[in-house]
Order: sequence, then C-alpha cells, then structure tokens
Amino acid sequence: MVKHVMSWSREILKLPFGTLYIGSLPLGCSLCHKGQKLVLFITGLCNRRCWYCPISDERRGKDIMFANEVQVRDLDEIIKQAMLMDARGTGITGGEPLLVFSRLIKIIKLLKSKLGSEHHIHLYTNGELLSRNHAILLKECGLDELRIHITSERSWKGVEIAINAGLLVGIEIPVIPNQLDYYKRLILRAESLGVKFINLNELEVSESNYMAMKLRGYDVKDDVPYAVKGSERTAVELLKWAKENTKRITIHYCPAKVKDAIQLKSRLKRIANKVAKPYEIVDEDGLLVKCVISSEGNMLPLLRLISEKVGKSKIHIVSGRYAEVSIAHLDEVIKLIKRSTDIKRKIKLYVVREHPITHLILEKIPLDI
Ligand code: SF4
Repeated sequence: MVKHVMSWSREILKLPFGTLYIGSLPLGCSLCHKGQKLVLFITGLCNRRCWYCPISDERRGKDIMFANEVQVRDLDEIIKQAMLMDARGTGITGGEPLLVFSRLIKIIKLLKSKLGSEHHIHLYTNGELLSRNHAILLKECGLDELRIHITSERSWKGVEIAINAGLLVGIEIPVIPNQLDYYKRLILRAESLGVKFINLNELEVSESNYMAMKLRGYDVKDDVPYAVKGSERTAVELLKWAKENTKRITIHYCPAKVKDAIQLKSRLKRIANKVAKPYEIVDEDGLLVKCVISSEGNMLPLLRLISEKVGKSKIHIVSGRYAEVSIAHLDEVIKLIKRSTDIKRKIKLYVVREHPITHLILEKIPLDI
C-alpha cells in the first residue's frame, strides 16, 4: 500500500520496509518487490575494483553463473529456475555482464522466446564497456531496462550511447554517507540526459567489503547489521532536495532490508508454493514445513497405519525407518505412535523447516511423544 508522507506535487511516496520514491517506481523494481523476478548473476568477472563491491569471494573474478543463488551451468538450467518460481521478469547482474556479451545476448533472447516477450528484463552494468553496437543489439533483442552504475566518466558515455539507441536507462548506485553534493550533481546530470530513474541503494556491508568499510570509518546500523549507518540519512536528504530541484526523473531509495524482507521472501514463497508436496505447507518465510518421523527400528506397520488414517497424499514413506508427514495431522500421528508400544521408544518426531531450492533443513524442532 502506498502511503503519502508529503503533499507537494513531486511527493515522496512510501512503501513497506522503508522504500521511498518520487515519480513512478521502475517496472523492474515493482516486480522485484513482489518477488516475481529471477536474479541472474551471469559472471563474476568485472573490469572495475570498486572498494564497496559486495560480491562474495566465492563469485568475484570467476566466470560462473547463479540463478536465484543456485549455481547454473547452462542456459537450460536458467530457464528451469525461472519456471520454478514462475518468474515474470529477470534482473541480470554480475560482475560486469558486458564482459560476456555474446552469452548475455543469448540469455536475453532465450528468456524472451521461452517466457514471452512480456517477460521483463533489466540489466546492470557499469556502462564503461558499452559500445553503440552493444546498445543496438540489446535494444533489438528486447532488453526492457538498462541500469548503469556510474563508476567513471566513461560510464556517462555509456548512458548517452544507451539513450541514443532508444533504451530505457536508469542509474543505480549505492549511497555513500555524507556525499550529498556528488549525488546532487549526478541526479541533475542524469535528468538533463534523459535518464528515467535513479535507484539509490542503501550501502551494504558484506564479508568481502567489510574491511574496506572499516578502514573508511563506516559502521553498521544497530537494527540492520548489514546496512551502513548514515547511508539512509543521506538518501532521505537527497529525496527531499530532489523533490524541489528535479522535474521528471524518478528518484527511488531502496533500503538494504527490502532485499531480505520482501524480495527474497516473496521469491522463496513463489518457489515453495510451486514445489510444495501435499504433505508440506509453506510458512511466512517461504520455507517448507512438515513432520519427520524417524526410527532406529522398522516401523513400517505403523507408517502404513498413519497413511490409512491421514490419507496417502499426506505422508511420504521413504523407508521403514523414515517418513515425512503433514503437520496438519500431528495430533493423530502422536496418538498412533503412543499406541504402538513395541516401537514407540525408538521413534523420534520432529517438525522441520526446509529451504525450497536447496532442500537443506534449516530448522529441526524435536517433539515429545
Ligand atoms: S562495477 Fe559492480 S561488480 Fe564491478 S567491482 Fe564495481 S560494484 Fe563490483
């Protein structure tokens, strides 16, 4: 729900978890907020070494791909991951995707042909390597949004090339605290060139940039341990300034916790709802919840009895020593276990929460029988 927090013509609008914007939210961002976008990391190679780069050591400098945190090795696996979450769009990121340009074009074409031309694709780049030819090819294969992270004067050249090729161009940058003048100049320059939106991201701390942050004297917020103190304050000041000093350009502040609280959870929920078996339920975090019954001895007769009582679809008997069953029938299951005096002592019962993509058990709560 959109809340109006100010009432001038260029209002600052507010979305849950602290998102603020002036103008209209970029389409790529609104799909992201609903968890409808596949996040596709297509290479860890990059031509820059930004001190604040949050890319993990596992990915940095390596030509590897991940779709929604799952490593993928070919284009078919990318489509599989997109279908798994019923993705309405894809955000392509890196590293610097232009370094693997022919792969990038193949991926965009494939996504558009398999998932429909309305499948919304946005691409992140620092723009330094963008040539006129690249921009024309990106436009021709249907790229919907190009988001340029300004790293140098050459990135601005990339902005101009992309706009001249007819691409919808936004700028996406992390907000370094107390650099108001730099960002004000950047916003005015972007608006004068015809950039459609500026995404101001709250500066994030990761394992790989932690030391660089510390050396520069930055600290983390008390309530969000991966967000840098002062970044949000600078972004809010910029929005207030932009309200009075810009005319058309959208300015959008994206807090670090949105990624975790909205994007990731919504994405997990979409995937979980697609993969959940009849004996699993999806919780508010997008994890699969079920009961696990395990035993040191054979309990097959008991499992068959449970199956008769709760229905075949509500139990998955893996072996005579292990089964998964719906938590909706927990009381019934406990009653039946209590009655099976011969094996009762050898049985263990848990409620587990399982990740819908990796299928790792993230939480295991033992129950008294
Ligand atoms: S351009 Fe992006 S990917 Fe490359 S080093 Fe900078 S922040 Fe990291």
